Amino acid sequence: MDTIDPATRSRVMSAIHSRDTRPELLVRRHLWREGWRYRVCDRRLPGKPDIVVPRAHALVEIRGCFWHRHGWTWDGRKLVHEADCPGATTPKSNRAFWNAKFRANVRRDAAHEILWRDLGWNLIVIWTCALAPARLPSTLSWLTRTLGKWAGLAPGMPPGKAGKRESS
Ligand SMILES: [Zn+2]
Repeated sequence: MDTIDPATRSRVMSAIHSRDTRPELLVRRHLWREGWRYRVCDRRLPGKPDIVVPRAHALVEIRGCFWHRHGWTWDGRKLVHEADCPGATTPKSNRAFWNAKFRANVRRDAAHEILWRDLGWNLIVIWTCALAPARLPSTLSWLTRTLGKWAGLAPGMPPGKAGKRESS
């Protein structure tokens, strides 16, 4: 049953296979430059997290503000609005379709976060609005600072060659 208009359909389709998107590549290049080795879309973990950084026992998720509803959380029953992000807009047409879609996405993210936490992983979520040019440098330095802390490195100390990269 196809009840969505062509514009909506193409928007949905273009979000599929969204791996290796520009925001993700920005983050991966930075990690690599800073000496962090990682795996991409690790199928051995639930939800195939975007980036796995073994040295810091960390997962890094890059989430689009629109699809993953930046500022919204799942309380176990419904979406709860906690903060405003200009990227988390809601299209005016097909409200029911979008609401169902958004609810499913946020709910799935929340379920994965619980699984990862139970498996003992550290998690960093980077929203794409934090990768806008003006915010990019501070976001990336916060990322590597946090990984360094989790890896038990002294501030400013490079991670070294521990952990190896596997192609996706
Ligand atoms: Zn955002």
